[in-house]
Amino acid sequence: MQVIDVEIKLTEHAGFCFGVNKAVKIAFELNHDGPVYTIGELIHNRQILDELERRDIKKLDRMESLKKGDCVIIRAHGIGKGLYQELCDREVKILDATCPYVKRIHDIVKTQQEQGFQIIIVGDPNHPEVIGINGWCEGKALIIASEKDAEALAYRDQKAVVVAQTTYKRAKYEEIFKLLKKKFAIVLKFDTICNATVQRQTETEELSRCVDVMIVIGGKNSSNTQKLYEICKENCSETYLIEKADELPLFDKKVKTVGITAGASTPETVIKEVIFHMEDMMNGHESEIDFSQALEMTFTDLKANEVIKGKIIGYNNNDVFVDLGYKADGLIPMEEFLDDPDFDPERDLQPGKEIEALIVKINDGEGNVSLSKRKVDSIRGFEIVEEAFKNRTPIEILIKEIVKGGAVADFKGVRIFIPASQLSDRFIKDITPFKGKKVTVLITEMANRRRVVGSCRALIEEEKEKKSEAFWSEAEIGREYTGTVKNLTKFGAFVDLGGVDGLVHISELSWKRIDDPSEVLKVDDEVHVRILDLDKEKKKISLGYRKMEDNPWYNIENKYHVGDIITGTVLRMVPFGVFVELEEGVEGLVHISQISSVRIGRPDEVLSVGQQVEMKIIDINSDLKKISLSIKEVKPIDPVREDEPAREIGEDIPTTHHEDMSNTIGDILNEKK
Ligand code: SF4
Repeated sequence: MQVIDVEIKLTEHAGFCFGVNKAVKIAFELNHDGPVYTIGELIHNRQILDELERRDIKKLDRMESLKKGDCVIIRAHGIGKGLYQELCDREVKILDATCPYVKRIHDIVKTQQEQGFQIIIVGDPNHPEVIGINGWCEGKALIIASEKDAEALAYRDQKAVVVAQTTYKRAKYEEIFKLLKKKFAIVLKFDTICNATVQRQTETEELSRCVDVMIVIGGKNSSNTQKLYEICKENCSETYLIEKADELPLFDKKVKTVGITAGASTPETVIKEVIFHMEDMMNGHESEIDFSQALEMTFTDLKANEVIKGKIIGYNNNDVFVDLGYKADGLIPMEEFLDDPDFDPERDLQPGKEIEALIVKINDGEGNVSLSKRKVDSIRGFEIVEEAFKNRTPIEILIKEIVKGGAVADFKGVRIFIPASQLSDRFIKDITPFKGKKVTVLITEMANRRRVVGSCRALIEEEKEKKSEAFWSEAEIGREYTGTVKNLTKFGAFVDLGGVDGLVHISELSWKRIDDPSEVLKVDDEVHVRILDLDKEKKKISLGYRKMEDNPWYNIENKYHVGDIITGTVLRMVPFGVFVELEEGVEGLVHISQISSVRIGRPDEVLSVGQQVEMKIIDINSDLKKISLSIKEVKPIDPVREDEPAREIGEDIPTTHHEDMSNTIGDILNEKK
C-alpha cells in the first residue's frame, strides 16, 4: 500500500460564485406547476444538470416549444434584449437569474450605444454571456477575442466603449485595451471583470506557484474553469483539470503539496468528494485540511437585529448583494441608498467595498439574509446627533419637507425639526424655498429619539456674536474694511462689515451732490469703506465711502491756473452771476460784473443755461473750493439795446475786482442756503 504524506491546500474562493449560487438556488427552490425550462445549461456541471433533469427542469431547445404559462429560468450568463422580449411576448413566467455583474454590462452597452459609442466586447464571441451582452446593443458590438483581433483592426475615427466578458483575464484585457486605444479616436474602458473571478484567479495563481501539483475542478466546457487551468499550467507543470473525484491522477511519491481550486460552477459537494478521495488515496494519512470543518469555520454566526460588516459583491435595480462570510449572501434594498442625493452607484457600490448593515431576517424566504443599511445609518446618525447636542457641534442636514410651523430635516435617518423662526436670524415669510436645501444647525433640544430640534438661527447669532467681539476689539478710526450694502435709507447706506453694521451718510457717498443713496449704491454691493467715527459703548460706526483721489477738487491747483482761458457750461443763474461747470463736480462763478462790458441788470439778459462760454480764470481758492471767472476779459457778451447807443469797450461799470470777490462769497453762501 502506498503511503504519501501530502499537504492539501484549497483556495479560499473555490466553487460556486455568487451568481451561479443564486441561479442554482432559484432552480432548486422553484415550485411551478407545469414545464420549466432553462435557456442554455444552467451551470457547467454534470451532476447538477442531472439533478435538474430529475426534477423535470430541461434545457429549452426551440422557442416554439414554449406555451403560455410555462416557466423559463434565465441563467447567470443572461440573454439578449431580443430574446427577452420574445419570452415576454410568449407570456411565459420568467425567473431572471442573470448575475448582477452581467446585468451591469447590459446597462452599460445599452446606454453607451444610445449615446453614439461603438461598443467593443472583449471575450469569446461564442460564449453565451458575450452573445447576451451583444443583444443589448442591437448585435452591433465589435467582438475582440484576443490581441490578434485588436491588432488586425483598421483605424476608425470613432468613439468607442470597451467592456470585457466577466471571466476574462484582467492582464489580457489591459493589453487589448492598449491596442484599441491606437485604433479609435476615443476609447472608454469599463472594468467589468467580476470580482469573484479576479479573486479566484489571483488566489489560484498564487497557490499554483507554491505547490507540486495543482488540481482544477470544474466543467471542461466552463470558460472560467478553463482560464483557471491556463493560469495554473503557466506556473505548475503538474496541473490537472478534473470534473469529479474519480478523475484524480495518481500522485508521485515526491509530491509534498497539492493545491486545489474550482471553477464558479463547481458545487461544494464535488470539492468535498475530491478532497475525501485524495485522503483515501493517501491511505489513511489525513489531510491537514478538513474541508467541511474549514468551510464551517469560515461561516459567521448571524443573529437578527445585529449590526454586521460585509463586502459588496454586486447590485441590480432592486438589491445590493453583500458577502457576509456566511453560507448565504445578504441583500440590502436598493431604495435605501436612494435617499442620499449624492449617491453614485459606480462609486458607492464598488465590489469589495466594506458596508455595515443591520440583520433584519436571517432568511428572507429565498435563502438570502435580509439586511438594512438605513437602520444602521439611523443608529449611527442618532449617535452623531447625540454627540453634537452634548458638545454643541454644528451639523449639516438636508431639509426634506416643510410642515406647519417649520421644516423637517433628515440626518442619516434621524428626523430633526427646525421651527420656522429658527431657520434664519431674519423673519422669513415664505419658508418653502428651504425644501431640498442643506443647512447647518445647532441641536438645541433632544428629549428623545422622536423629538430632536435644530436651529440655524442660534448658530448664526453665535457666529455673529463672535465676529462682533473680534470686530470691536480691533476697530479704530481710519481702518479700512470690505463690506456688503445691507440696506439703503434716505440718509445713507448701512454696510455689513461682517456681523457689525456701519452707516455711510449720504454726504459721504459721493463728491457730487446726490439726492438719494441709490444713485451710488444698491443692496448687496460689495464696498470698500473706512471708519470715520465710532462709539464702542453705543456700538455705532460712521463710515466713509468716497475716496480723496476721486474728489474733483483734489490737486485742483495742478489742473487750473490763474490766467488760463477755459471753456465751461452755464449750469445755473443767480442774481449776482452764473455758475459754470468746468468738469464734473467743479464749478466756478462768473460774477455779473464779469460778463459784459456794459452794466446788465440780470445774467439771463445775455446768457442762458447750457450755453458754452469762454472764460479766463481770475482767482482760485482750493480751500473754499472756489474759482472766479471772467467772460468779459476774454470776449464780453453785451446786450443789444435798440434805444441805447452801444458802449465802447472799456466804458465799464465802476467796480473793483476785490469788491466783486467779497460779494461773491456772500452771495454763494446765500445761494447755498
Ligand atoms: S459574473 Fe462573476 S459572480 Fe456573476 S456568474 Fe459570472 S463569475 Fe459568477
